Amino acid sequence: MHRFAVIGDPIAHSASPRLFRWLADHLGLPLGYEAVRVPNGSLASVLEEARAGRWDGLSVTIPHKQDALVLADRADPRATRTGAANCLVRAPDGRLVAHNTDVEGVTAALARHGHSLAGSAVLLLGAGGAARAGAVAAREAGAARLWIANRRPKRALELASAFDGEALPLTVDALGPVLPRTDLVLQATSVGLDASGDSPLPPGCVLHDRLTVMDMVYRPLRTRLLRDAEAAGARTIDGLWMLVFQGLAALRLWTGAEAAADVAPALHAHLAEGG
Ligand code: NAP
Repeated sequence: MHRFAVIGDPIAHSASPRLFRWLADHLGLPLGYEAVRVPNGSLASVLEEARAGRWDGLSVTIPHKQDALVLADRADPRATRTGAANCLVRAPDGRLVAHNTDVEGVTAALARHGHSLAGSAVLLLGAGGAARAGAVAAREAGAARLWIANRRPKRALELASAFDGEALPLTVDALGPVLPRTDLVLQATSVGLDASGDSPLPPGCVLHDRLTVMDMVYRPLRTRLLRDAEAAGARTIDGLWMLVFQGLAALRLWTGAEAAADVAPALHAHLAEGG
């Protein structure tokens, strides 16, 4: 039996246990998965337990993604580029290797819906951990343009400068003129979470039917932004797709299991049913 866990705080509403238990049942894998609340200040001792063999791997969520990268024994280059780890793999010698599967979550969710990041003009909303994964996905895949807008402009500037001038920071009130030149909106702020009904776009922003709009928020599944995008005729992708594909990437790192193409939509449907 392989044992895994998601660590974070808060953790009670994490979708990861449902996701990995469904995968274990569906793929017939001997895999246990638990949610463990790890408050700030306790991460180092929990990682020691992981090294000692309590788990074979960990999913990492808020607020530990950046510290997990620092405290791991080694890091995959993609995790280093992103500046955060959402997945730790316990090597046979007990060392913990940091990975970031959110990047693959973004790329694979877009590919599943027929959107290639290569050559795309990308507008990234947000500058937190999820946005960093979006930015790395866009740069790795060769996006033609990457604009980054954030509530606190300083953070957009910091994130953009991490890409050596290949990304441009924007203020939120400058979004209107950029949207007509945008192919893909990657929504990576927490706006829209838990049915607030808010949109991250300021009033007056016009969406168009050549856009793909992906919202990383998945509770609710159809955020205000996605409903507005749908009404404008844009292609929309909900945040559960990213969750599904980052999970499949983690499972592959932990067990070597490669899921068949029909697993992602079945898992998405299972998670969507759960609300
Ligand atoms: P984070 O590091 O805390 O960043 C939060 C981001 O949201 C920041 O850019 C913040 O702007 C912005 N923000 C928060 N409240 C805002 C408001 N009222 N108005 C405008 N901007 C606001 O969080 P994160 O880890 O990046 O996560 C962001 C979202 O992505 C969350 O909803 C999370 O659930 C989701 N997510 C989804 C997946 C998935 O697999 N689908 C994976 C990871 C994360 P400031 O910098 O100005 O504070």
